[in-house]
Amino acid sequence: MWVPQATLSLFAFLASRSLARLDGTKIAHDLQSILSPESAVFLLGNSSALIDTTPRFNVWHSPTYTVSVKPAFPRDVQKVVSYSRDKKVPFLATGGGHGYTGTLSALRDGIEVDLSYFNTVEVDKDKNLLKIGGSVRFRDLMGPVYAAGKAVPVGACPCVGMAGATLGGGIGFWSSTYGAISDSLSSLEVITADGSLITVSSTSNADLFWAMKGAGANYGIVTSLTYNIHDAPNGGQVMSADMMFPVSANGSLWEFVKSWVGKQPAELSLTISLLFDPIAGQFIIVTNIIYTGPLTTGHSIIQPLLNLQPLNTNISYIPWSEAPFAATYGGPANNCGKPTIMVPHAVNLYQVDTKALCDAVDYLNQTVPKDPALQSFVFAFTQYSQAGFKATEKKKSAFPWRDVVMYAQMDGIAMKADDVPAIDAFGKGFRDLLQKSNRKSKLEVYTHFAHGDEGAAAWYGEENVSRLRKLKKQYDPQGLFSFYNPV
Ligand SMILES: Cc1cc2nc3c(=O)[nH]c(=O)nc-3n(C[C@H](O)[C@H](O)[C@H](O)COP(=O)(O)OP(=O)(O)OC[C@H]3O[C@@H](n4cnc5c(N)ncnc54)[C@H](O)[C@@H]3O)c2cc1C
Repeated sequence: MWVPQATLSLFAFLASRSLARLDGTKIAHDLQSILSPESAVFLLGNSSALIDTTPRFNVWHSPTYTVSVKPAFPRDVQKVVSYSRDKKVPFLATGGGHGYTGTLSALRDGIEVDLSYFNTVEVDKDKNLLKIGGSVRFRDLMGPVYAAGKAVPVGACPCVGMAGATLGGGIGFWSSTYGAISDSLSSLEVITADGSLITVSSTSNADLFWAMKGAGANYGIVTSLTYNIHDAPNGGQVMSADMMFPVSANGSLWEFVKSWVGKQPAELSLTISLLFDPIAGQFIIVTNIIYTGPLTTGHSIIQPLLNLQPLNTNISYIPWSEAPFAATYGGPANNCGKPTIMVPHAVNLYQVDTKALCDAVDYLNQTVPKDPALQSFVFAFTQYSQAGFKATEKKKSAFPWRDVVMYAQMDGIAMKADDVPAIDAFGKGFRDLLQKSNRKSKLEVYTHFAHGDEGAAAWYGEENVSRLRKLKKQYDPQGLFSFYNPV
C-alpha cells in the first residue's frame, strides 16, 4: 500500500509523542514510588499540573518537561537527582520561575524539580540571620525582615525567587549599600550531582561557596539559604520617587545620572526606563529614584529632576519592603507572574557617555515608531552606588560585577510569536550599539539579564572561568546542572 510521505511523517510524529508520553508515565510512576507521600508528582499535560506547578514568567526559550515533581523534603530532592542521573533524564530546579536566559531551551522533555514546598521564612533578629527555603520569593521575605527592623538586599520585581537571584549574584536598590544579594549569604544547603546533601559556607566546602555566589545554578539544588541581615537604616523608611518625562529630556537625565558617577551615596539607586507610548506615537521616560536615607536629603537629590518639570511625579516615603511594589509606578510588581514572550538583551556599561546615549535614543526615535513589533520594548538603565559592591572583596565570590556603572537591559516583549525574530535582531543590534560606546572592548553582562549567547567569560568574568570549570568537574562531572548559562 502506498502511503503519502506526509502521512508517514504524521505517524512518526504521533509515535514519538506517545513514546514521550509513555516515558513520562513511567518516570512519574517511578518517582511516585520512591518519594515521600508528602511529595507531589505531575504528569504534564494533565490539567491539575497547570494549576499546581509554578508557572514560568517567560515563554521564550523556556525548558520543556514531561513530569513535574514537588519534593517535600531534602531527601526527596536527593532521590530525584539520583534517579534522573541514573536514568539519564535531564532535570532542572524551579524556584520563582523567573529565569529567562535563552540557554534554558536546551532542556527538552525533562523533569522539573519544583521547589514550591521549600517555602519557609525564618528571621532570627538577635543573631541577624534570615533562613529561607529554596523557592521563597522576594515578596515572601521582605515583610518579615522589615518587621524585625532589618534589611537584606532584594531585587526589583517582588515575585522573583530569592535563591535563583542569589545564585547569580542578585541586584536591587539595597545593593548600593550592601552589594550583591550573594554578598549577604552566610550558608546554603545543597544537593549535588552525586545526590549528597552538603552545607556550603565559608568554612564548609568554601571553594563551592565562592562559586555558588555568582554561578550557583551550575552546581546543585539549594534547599535552604541563610543570610546575614542588617539593622535597617533610617528606621527602614525609603523614598521612592517616580517621574515621567518627554523623550526630549533624555540628555538632561543622562547628565543627571552621570553627575553621580564615582560619588553616588550608598543610599541612592537610579533607574531610567524608556517605553514607547503608542497613543502619542513617541517614547516616554520614567525615572525611579530610591533613597534609603532621610526624606529631606532624598528631596534635595531629586530637586534637579523636579526642576526639569516632569509630566508626572509619584513620590512616596514608605517601608523598604513596599518599595518594589511602588517603584516605577508599580509596573514591575503589576506584571508579576504574568506569562510573557520576552526576548532579553543586556550589557554592563562602564561609563555614562551622554552623547552616545542621546544618539542611541535618537536611533530608537527613528526606528521604533515605524515598526509595531518593536513597540513593546522596555529599555532600562540602572545605576547603583559602587560603595555596596566594593564593600566585599572581589576574590570572595564568583560575582564579578563590582565596577559596573549602569546595567542596561533591553527587554523585547512580543505581542505575538511571529514578532520574535524582528525583536531579537533589534535587541541584539541595540546591545551592540551600546557596547560600542563602552569602556571595555569585550561584552560583559550580568548573568541574570543575559540573552544566552554571550558565553561564560561574559557572564562570570574572564578571570573566574577556569576556576569555575575546575569546580564543575569536581562537583558535577556529568554536567547535570548545565542549563542556566553554563560555565
Ligand atoms: C520580571 C523580572 C524582574 C527581575 N528583576 C531582577 C532584579 O531586580 N534583580 C536581579 O538580580 N534579578 C532580577 N531578575 C532576574 C532574576 O534574578 C533571575 O531571572 C533569576 O534566575 C530568577 O530566579 P527564579 O527562582 O525566579 O527563577 P527560576 O526560573 O525558577 O530559576 C532560575 C535558575 O535558577 C535555578 N534555581 C532557582 N532556584 C534554585 C534553587 N533553589 N536551587 C538551585 N537552583 C535554583 C533554576 O534551576 C534556574 O536555572 C528579574 C527577572 C524577571 C523576569
